[in-house]
Amino acid sequence: MMKAKLFKLQFVDSIPHQLEEDVLYVSILHNMVSHLCACGCGRRVDTPLDTDEWKLTYDGESISLQPSIGNYDFPCKTHYWIKNNIAVPVSSRKQYQKKKKNKIIKSFEKNFKKLFSFL
Ligand SMILES: [Zn+2]
Repeated sequence: MMKAKLFKLQFVDSIPHQLEEDVLYVSILHNMVSHLCACGCGRRVDTPLDTDEWKLTYDGESISLQPSIGNYDFPCKTHYWIKNNIAVPVSSRKQYQKKKKNKIIKSFEKNFKKLFSFL
């Protein structure tokens, strides 16, 4: 499990070929945000902004990206949010609890329908 990681923000005209660790590169010109995977595996993550996939918010000091970044194509399979220049891991526990909650709701609905099937 990765730890939260603070990135340095760097606005550039074009994203360099060689990225540095812990730097979030933002190219408004090319609608692109790039960084190296927050787990430290060194793989490059490009998040294009001119698709419907990611939205960038900039508050004058830091950026946030929506939605989360799931590097499931990488061996590390790291999943995190970038919020205010910080990569925050999406905890698998949270996902598990969400799944569990959905299951409970589903079984409740099922039982509810059964109980009130005479209506
Ligand atoms: Zn990684």
